[in-house]
Amino acid sequence: MALNYDQAVAKYEPTLGLEVHVELNTKSKMFCGCATEFGASPNTQTCPICLGLPGALPVVNAKAIESSILIGLALNCSIAPFSRFARKNYFYPDMPKNFQTSQYDEPICVNGYLDVEIETDEGPKQFRVEIERVHMEEDTGKSLHVGGATGRIHGADYSLLDYNRAGIPLVEIVTKIVGGTGKYAPQVARAYVTELRDILRSLAVSDVKMEQGSMRCDVNLSLAPVGSNELGTRSETKNVNSLRSVERAVIGEVIRQSNRLEAGERIVQETRHFQEESGQTRSGRSKEQAEDYRYFPEPDLVPVAPAAQWIEELRASLPEKPSTRRKRLQELWNVPAKEMEAMVNAELLDVVEETIGLGAEPTRARSWWLGEVSRLANEREVAPTSLITPAQVAEVIALIESGELTDKLARQVVEGVVGGEGTPREVIDKRGLKVVSDDGALMVAIEAAIAAQPDTAERVRGGNLPAAGALIGAVMKATGGQADAAKVRELLLKHLGQG
Ligand code: ZN
Ligand code: MN
Repeated sequence: MALNYDQAVAKYEPTLGLEVHVELNTKSKMFCGCATEFGASPNTQTCPICLGLPGALPVVNAKAIESSILIGLALNCSIAPFSRFARKNYFYPDMPKNFQTSQYDEPICVNGYLDVEIETDEGPKQFRVEIERVHMEEDTGKSLHVGGATGRIHGADYSLLDYNRAGIPLVEIVTKIVGGTGKYAPQVARAYVTELRDILRSLAVSDVKMEQGSMRCDVNLSLAPVGSNELGTRSETKNVNSLRSVERAVIGEVIRQSNRLEAGERIVQETRHFQEESGQTRSGRSKEQAEDYRYFPEPDLVPVAPAAQWIEELRASLPEKPSTRRKRLQELWNVPAKEMEAMVNAELLDVVEETIGLGAEPTRARSWWLGEVSRLANEREVAPTSLITPAQVAEVIALIESGELTDKLARQVVEGVVGGEGTPREVIDKRGLKVVSDDGALMVAIEAAIAAQPDTAERVRGGNLPAAGALIGAVMKATGGQADAAKVRELLLKHLGQG
């Protein structure tokens, strides 16, 4: 009988290793001056250096070194006073030089850690993920396989190559072996990648969009019988491209490997590909060993030897750690953890903070961004922040607080701003959105509501105050939601002798 996840982790202890590739957001490539902008026509951002033409000589991008050092410092690494690039030799059509310029035995950052917190059966628990190295390298070009059903090379009629991405700076962050997580391995893996993404975003060194491939995670996983001190053979699941997929890939591999072991089969050391639809992995190539790449120091580049003073300046410039910031804001705003998480996942923490900074009350600021604005953004399949500014949201909230807008009118204002009708003020003027609080106008509507529902009015006169709700509702409806509801209630009750 096949083991499910719970049965698998009762018998086998998972060991993780995570490798994350991050595309840096430098203006030019790692070793040449070519632009890095996403989405340009194929092969328009290339030069003799990134095409590997004979005689072309690379020069290291200083900004990429700075970003790599910042990443290392934020991950509590030591920064090597001296590091070198190496050639990693292999043939692939999307890599015109026939080698990738990477770092091998002399990476720029070593020995760091990142603490992550996850929810366990016994409450929140912290795990330390140790970082082995952070090294610099370059991206490859992109192959496009044309014809065939799958978009993969098998069955394709021909392939096209775009070298615009070849030579874009990459940083690879490699953990040490992560053990002792037991059944929580999937959550620890996800929490690590999440925290790492948040740190990279706070450093502004990458746009860290997993779904677009600017941050990609390889998940190494092995199993050993619980209580044994050995390490099992690992598989490596490549290019997992969402946080949820990181978690699912670990679960999928635990189940697959445990069932092989149960059946007396061996685990093959290989790369595997994660399949979004099934949550399972399928076999790729069998894994090369490091020696197969014939690494050797890059003779065309000088070693990297950052001055100690520069490193200290960068250390002093590090922003507040995202986890620390989240805790601080959570306390300041008095928000439940779940809602905090929702803001982080929706990438709305910055704009909510800005909106509150402009004077908006925290609960309102949160609920406008997470509610109405997010809803409108989902409909249009764009980011909420592309639709409206924190200043405009703060302005709408101020108008609600001053009684100039009801919630319902405010929704119309936001809709107008999002629809390109102008600033909140302009939308209010154009659409004639004003709270009706003029006694005379309201009394006309109140008398009409009473005339339409004489029995209800009679009950209110007799002291049944909750019955007034139906009349207030009728007035709100008659005024198109523009009436000041509190005012309507006050006038109505007074008119019926209950005020
Ligand atoms: Zn170039
Ligand atoms: Mn790599």
